[in-house]
Amino acid sequence: MISIAIANQKGGVGKTTTAINLATALAATGSKVLLIDLDPQGNASTGIGIATADRERSSYDLLVDAAPLRSCVSKTRIPGLDIIPATVDLSGAEIELVSVEDRTGRLRDSLAQEIGYDICVIDCPPSLGLLTLNALTAADTLLVPLQCEFFALEGLSHLLQTVERVQQRFNPDLGIIGVALTMYDRRNRLTDLVSEDVRSCLGDLVFQATIPRNVRLSEAPSHGLPALVYDHSCSGSRAYIALARELIARLPERKIAA
Ligand code: ATP
Ligand code: MG
Repeated sequence: MISIAIANQKGGVGKTTTAINLATALAATGSKVLLIDLDPQGNASTGIGIATADRERSSYDLLVDAAPLRSCVSKTRIPGLDIIPATVDLSGAEIELVSVEDRTGRLRDSLAQEIGYDICVIDCPPSLGLLTLNALTAADTLLVPLQCEFFALEGLSHLLQTVERVQQRFNPDLGIIGVALTMYDRRNRLTDLVSEDVRSCLGDLVFQATIPRNVRLSEAPSHGLPALVYDHSCSGSRAYIALARELIARLPERKIAA
């Protein structure tokens, strides 16, 4: 199984929207995909249609109680896509894990249990705390959604420093598969300038596919559906399909079935 962490400590940049729709696009190619909601807000769980009352086992049980991986998995309505949902309990995990030895390696140890998935997509919370550190320690690679706005690059350098620290201390093999520009608005001159700036700074690390600002993407979660299912032909869905294609081309071949 190859695992991809979707992280950026900045809030509201499109991490969850990216995690849900990429996971869906990957499942549509025939891969068996596990989405892990590692954010106490539980937006990925809600957005994929898992009501709060139906979250029997969650990422909290996985991290804090080391519950067996399989026991924490819920089915979604999307064929080939399962989820480990998050509950608000998870906000306590950062504190509960403080006294635990190897507290950043909890998720990595859980994911070592092979339960038949090809790809795991991890939706991180908007911080660089213990939850995100667990994701970066467990992941093979990181995908960074980046909103084209003024402070985007500044936040990114902080994230990249954290990646370096994780590589040095916990996960020397952690890669960065790419940066995805999100909520791109062609009519906004600043978006254009920032996007040019980011591309000249990061080069090929930035995916060619750019996710436009698209109201269908923001409506879909309230129906408990990925945008790709809610309206597969809207501009946002098409952009996520293009992003998934690029992502697959960048993944090490032997690791995926698609
Ligand atoms: P958080 O840091 O709180 O976890 P996030 O980085 O996961 O946020 P999202 O929840 O994916 O970000 O997106 C924030 C808000 O913007 C949501 O309401 C979402 O529906 C909306 N949104 C995300 N991407 C787009 C887009 N491309 N076009 C329009 N709205 C979007
Ligand atoms: Mg989120």
